[in-house]
Formats: sequence, structure tokens, C-alpha cells
Amino acid sequence: MKKITVLSGKGGVGKSSITASLAISIAEKHRIACADCDVDASNLSLIFGINKFDEWSSITTKEKASFDYQKCNSCGKCFDACHFKSIEMIDDRPLLKQFSCEGCGVCEIVCPSKAITMLPIDNAKIGIALTKYGFNIYSAQLNIGESGSGGIVSEVKKMAQDAQADIMLIDSAAGIGCPVIASVSGSDYAIIVTEPTPTGFHDMKRAIEILKHFKIKFGLIINKYDINDCSNIEDYAAANSISVLSKIPYDKAFAKALVNCIPIISTSPSYKAIFEDIRDKVLKNVIP
Ligand code: SF4
Ligand code: SF4
Repeated sequence: MKKITVLSGKGGVGKSSITASLAISIAEKHRIACADCDVDASNLSLIFGINKFDEWSSITTKEKASFDYQKCNSCGKCFDACHFKSIEMIDDRPLLKQFSCEGCGVCEIVCPSKAITMLPIDNAKIGIALTKYGFNIYSAQLNIGESGSGGIVSEVKKMAQDAQADIMLIDSAAGIGCPVIASVSGSDYAIIVTEPTPTGFHDMKRAIEILKHFKIKFGLIINKYDINDCSNIEDYAAANSISVLSKIPYDKAFAKALVNCIPIISTSPSYKAIFEDIRDKVLKNVIP
């Protein structure tokens, strides 16, 4: 299965809207599975009009410290060693602050009384749903107050890998953090969606650094290209031999499609050709 990741650096540039329409276009030619890897704020399923998942399963990608007070001698070494300040000493007893343990396990190592054990916790759930476009979407949601999104992204990808598909299209989180790195890891190709704003340009360059680091081939989509002068992005792309896959105009139809939970390709016929063009350029890089 080939993996294509859509990322953006900056949030709010239209990454998920573009991913949804591209998925539908790819599905016309290949068996596809969609992985919503923006696990802190997953919403790709909404764009496909899904409000109920067929099945959910709990997953565990994290551990949390647990104290055995029968063994604890109140030495405070765990309190001193916790880099995340997740432990407080109350009445000479170590207590975990709510939602703060990062599960690093240092306290377990330093405890001289073996009073600390790391216990696995359910920190997220993964759902699978069949879209009305004939392919599955895999989506995860972090439980409230929990962390560990990088590990959860890997689990979503693992589950999507089981689908009978030729291509996995991955909707990454915005930014350049752990879930983004977990999303792009192992990708055959990546698409960076950007917009002609100073922050869009700046964050695009940071996303490019990640892809270069992992030696992943990629191209750019300049969304809302006509809201501002986009020549700096085009000049940068030309100077660095980066392919601009498409320039998509600002169009209120995008917002209308989003409100109605229908990908733009299904509401505005003029976008069919735009996404077919992007699809064909991308697939040339992925399927020989
Ligand atoms: S596992 Fe790490 S973060 Fe959690 S309490 Fe122990 S030292 Fe602190
Ligand atoms: S390091 Fe162990 S023995 Fe010392 S306070 Fe923490 S739990 Fe208790």
C-alpha cells in the first residue's frame, strides 16, 4: 500500500477540505483508505458527512505512574526526579497531579522501594466508518486530558494498513510536532497545502524541512492563491526545484461545502478537473 500524506505547517489553510476531495478523485481510479491523523482535532469524517462511526476501539499508547503506599518510605526521590512536575508530596505521600503524568518512567527507576509501577492507560479510541464514496475512513480521538498523539497516529496508520486498499491518504495535523512526524513517517509522497500569507509561507518552509529530513518527495498546493500576492511562494518553489501541483482560487463555495459536510468536488463540477489534475500529478510520483 502506498502512502500519501497531506500536511500544511499552518492550520486553517484548507488541508482537510483538499484531502477529502482528493480522496474522492483518487477513489475513481484506485482502492483507497483515508487516515485522519489529526488526532487532537480530527474532523475529516465530518467533511465526508459522517456523524457516526461503525465501530470504535479503545487503544493504549501510554503508561502512567501508580504508587503502592505500603512500600513507599516517603523519601521524595520520585518528586525530585520528575522533570514534568507531575508529582506533589502531600503529608509525605507522593501524589500524581491529574492529567500531568507523561509516562516517562523515571520515577519508577529512581524509587528505592519499588513502590512505583507504570500502568497502561486507555488514552484514545479509533473509529472506522464507510464513507458514501465507497472507501473507509479511520479516525482517532484522544480522550479528554490525555496526550500521546504521536503514538496514536501510528496506531491509526496501522489500522488503515489492514484495509484492502492500494493507497492510504493521510490527513496530518497542522504544525511540525510529534503527530506530524508520525504522519509523514514512511510516506511515499507528501503534499504541502499552503496559502499566500506571511504565516502560511513561514510554516510551509518548516514543513518542507521535515520532509527533506525524512527524504520524502513532495509537491505544493497553493490554496486561496488569489487572496494575496503568491509570487514569493512560487519563486521559492522554483528556486528549490519544488513542484507546484496546483493553485486553487479563494471561493466561497468551499465554505458552503464545508457547512453542508460535502467535499467541494461533489458540489462544484468545476473542481472535478482541478482535483483530477492534482491526483494524476501525485500518482505519477507514487505508482510507476
Ligand atoms: S512517569 Fe515520568 S512524568 Fe510520570 S510521574 Fe513518573 S517521572 Fe513524572
Ligand atoms: S521514590 Fe518511592 S519510596 Fe520515595 S517517595 Fe517516591 S514512591 Fe515513595
